[in-house]
Amino acid sequence: MLTPTPPVLCYHRIGGPLELGVTRVGRSTFARQMTALARAGWRTLTLEQFVQRADVPSCNEFLLTFDDGYASLAEHAYPVLADLGFTATTFLITDYVGKANTWDVRYTWNRLKHLSWSQIEQWRARGLEFASHGATHRRLTWLDDAAIETELRGSRETLTTRLGPIAGRAVAYPFGAVNPRVLGIAQRAGYELGFGGVRGGEGGNPLQLPRVPVYCWDVGAVPFGLRDDGIGVLGRTVAHVANRCAVGTTIMQNFTRRSAPLPESVAGV
Ligand SMILES: [Zn+2]
Repeated sequence: MLTPTPPVLCYHRIGGPLELGVTRVGRSTFARQMTALARAGWRTLTLEQFVQRADVPSCNEFLLTFDDGYASLAEHAYPVLADLGFTATTFLITDYVGKANTWDVRYTWNRLKHLSWSQIEQWRARGLEFASHGATHRRLTWLDDAAIETELRGSRETLTTRLGPIAGRAVAYPFGAVNPRVLGIAQRAGYELGFGGVRGGEGGNPLQLPRVPVYCWDVGAVPFGLRDDGIGVLGRTVAHVANRCAVGTTIMQNFTRRSAPLPESVAGV
């Protein structure tokens, strides 16, 4: 696959309770952004189309992705997409499908639910795609080889068993954290596409593709990741910095794994 690839937007949670973190985007903001993009002629791509378009760049097409697979997507995001004829790829934390988000620092009063397998199957039948975000959302670059293998291979196996071989095609590395060791293990595990941070890897490696996260401050009609003006460049830089700052979240996660959940904490990603 050659570069440049079409732009990739990454949302996390849409709607639902407010949080102390930065990754929640309100339902009305999301609906406004998607509607504005559709009216401006933008179209979303399937993963297969995304791979094909990498060699033949075309305008006004993007890959829409969601990380973490929160249950609120089925309520607040997917119906908006269905109305507009848009598709998306959702990266699931496979050990937490149908469960509460105890893998994360607690940014909300109550724990949040993840999509269940039946919801996932229902929306897959309507044209949405699902892929891997690891088995337990651990920062892969801080793990030894065996643990990385368990995360990547384990989640891929779960997905292909439940949803078929297509679901084993892509991975979004938790926190966008990736290094040559992780890339090698992802490749050996059978992934074809991997999504990292805002900047992506050297030489257009298909296992380290760039994505632009949409954070809570990205409320304009066209998210920063799809703007090629100065505001878009600035917004992507801010997103890059916020993504790097997410290291704080990982430290908190490691801490809370060993102790009782903390009530609230610093903003993270
Ligand atoms: Zn995530």
